[in-house]
Amino acid sequence: MNRQQIVQLDKAHVWHPYTPMGRYLHETDPLVIATAEGSTLIDVDGRRYLDATSSWWVAVLGHNHPRLVAALKRQADKLCHTALAGMTHEPAAALAAGLVARAPQGLSRVFFSDDGSTALECALKMCLKYWHNRGDTSRIKFAALEGAFHGETIGVTALGGIDAFRRAYTDVLMDCVRVRAPTDGDFDQAVDALDELMRTVGPQLAALVVEPLVLGASGMLCYPAAFLRVLREVCNKYDVLLVADEVFAGYGRTGTFWAVEQAGITPDLLATAKGFSGGLLPMAATLASERLFEGFLGEPERAFFYGHSFAGNPLGAAVALEVLRVLDEEQTLRGIPERSALIAQRFAAMHRKFEGSQRPRGIGMIGALDLDSTTSYLSDVGAKIGLAARKHGVYLRPLGNTVYVAPPLNISLEDLRRMLDGVEAAIADVLG
Ligand SMILES: *Cc1c(COP(=O)(O)O)cnc(C)c1O
Repeated sequence: MNRQQIVQLDKAHVWHPYTPMGRYLHETDPLVIATAEGSTLIDVDGRRYLDATSSWWVAVLGHNHPRLVAALKRQADKLCHTALAGMTHEPAAALAAGLVARAPQGLSRVFFSDDGSTALECALKMCLKYWHNRGDTSRIKFAALEGAFHGETIGVTALGGIDAFRRAYTDVLMDCVRVRAPTDGDFDQAVDALDELMRTVGPQLAALVVEPLVLGASGMLCYPAAFLRVLREVCNKYDVLLVADEVFAGYGRTGTFWAVEQAGITPDLLATAKGFSGGLLPMAATLASERLFEGFLGEPERAFFYGHSFAGNPLGAAVALEVLRVLDEEQTLRGIPERSALIAQRFAAMHRKFEGSQRPRGIGMIGALDLDSTTSYLSDVGAKIGLAARKHGVYLRPLGNTVYVAPPLNISLEDLRRMLDGVEAAIADVLG
């Protein structure tokens, strides 16, 4: 099929995620990608685009990493899928062991699911059932950060704090208690507000769920590791379970393997997806502490009656295991400080150059800048800059008016420079 035929079929039938479809059908000329390698997407006409978002944050080792593709092919020849009930297989067992070896001290059990949303949904249900098994009927509420994003199921939508994503569902969502993270340097106020809140609701909370260090979807808002330590202390004090959503922040994105490492804390549950399978396949995991796991032992009715058809999928598991090996053997995380410094320096320079731009920020392999003071997802400045970036050979997808990059961790310095040049040129095209 040529470009035009593909677009025609797409526009006749494909309903795109996070996309105002009326506008898409009439105004958008989508990129039509045929192949990809490293940090580059290549369209059907051979045009190349540096992927500034690692394709929605998943391709931490770049696209089509040869070792990951080879691991997938090897596994596909042997076993593509089998249920994970009453049976197991080498990829799932070896991956679980590999994850536990990497995990913050104290997380020892691995529950597999399909994507970030299900890894979090699973964590919520584990928390509720844990308290239920303990006979504690008062812990039925969740707390989450203001501006949080934890995925798309109705359960995790309740924890989400981005108004545009929740508004239509408000009437059916669970109650959620909001905690403010100090994303603007207001550390002491945030700690005071947290203390006061916990004094009243602490004893009713099943768990506090957090994106550690960076609130990704609400615009790459960063907060210090010290606040994570405060959250851990407060959860200990009120016996509240702490769930770390490392779906975006983990696997090196924030500079360390897990974001919680920077605070030296261990959550009770940790959810991972996205970079977890190197961006090849939908696959996720929820890691649990032994204390939590033991809460499900005993009579059969105490068991966790929850699971997904593709839990522990051998293809995904084989690839995810290879991701761990590649990160080790290629020492990918060692290259982050140099890249991170370059990203920070270039976003600071863009802030000085573009009048009215605000809050240059970043951590690890993330850089971001707001282009004006409105923070709405519905702002169209970002969309225009995304389109302009194409002309400069970059695939960019701003969040509302927040322009950000979250490239593959192993992007070459040369590609990274060209990507940042492209971002700057695209902003200049739109802001004049
Ligand atoms: C993307 C994301 C999710 C949801 O993951 P999906 O794989 O899209 O379901 C959950 N939490 C965070 C922090 C995310 O960035």
